[in-house]
Amino acid sequence: MLNFKNINVLTFILFLGLLLLSQFFNISIFFFIVLFLAWLTLTSIGSFTIGWNYHLKAFNSKKNHTKNQVAITFDDGPNAEFTPKILELLKAHHAKATFFCIGKHAEQQPELVQQITEEGHTIGNHTYTHSDFFDFYNKQNVIAEIKNTNTTISSIINKKMKLFRPPYGVTNPAITKAIKHTKHHVIGWNIRSLDTIKKDEEDIFNRITKNIKPGAVILLHDSQEITVRVLEQLLLFLQKNNYQSVTIDTLFNIEAYA
Ligand SMILES: [Zn+2]
Repeated sequence: MLNFKNINVLTFILFLGLLLLSQFFNISIFFFIVLFLAWLTLTSIGSFTIGWNYHLKAFNSKKNHTKNQVAITFDDGPNAEFTPKILELLKAHHAKATFFCIGKHAEQQPELVQQITEEGHTIGNHTYTHSDFFDFYNKQNVIAEIKNTNTTISSIINKKMKLFRPPYGVTNPAITKAIKHTKHHVIGWNIRSLDTIKKDEEDIFNRITKNIKPGAVILLHDSQEITVRVLEQLLLFLQKNNYQSVTIDTLFNIEAYA
């Protein structure tokens, strides 16, 4: 299996092999550089691609799912302007979703956090600050980000979140160790809508729907206008194709709260 541990072991064995060969033959330094670059490339892609399960095992989609269910997920909220519009659309279409909230946003919008759970959706942990430097944090700092968010949100909903989504879906050894300690389920996705990058709603809609199948996990953001417009089209599409939108815990049959 292509994961961090196996790649490290394989790289180390190849390194030793090259070292041994260099005792008997004239081995160019070029081979050592290629080996290092191959390790670096795989580890970089693996760290940025949560679906690879390179550093840790994440729930990215439910393969061979027998029910016509998908899970819509929203990151980076709650947002005073857009989260209410999204909740309204979900309610109108009898759809359930999962909101990966940023702790400091939840602190500013406790009534939205409350509303999300009251309306049958699930809340997950998306760090406290969503810092651009989160991927450079050590284990202790990652744990602090996760714990602060859990404390903030549990003071509002009286439940401790067990679902965690790392910012940008980036994983690394510090996050792996932190998760082992906090025992959260790590949630990824298999359909990245690119709703924060693409400017054309048709484009975003097509990206999602061309890849949709039972068990899919869709990544969206409740922090911007374009997502609201895409969601409206998406919910109509799901309805027309007999898909039901469920929470992450329903899709994977796991506990959302401790
Ligand atoms: Zn995010």
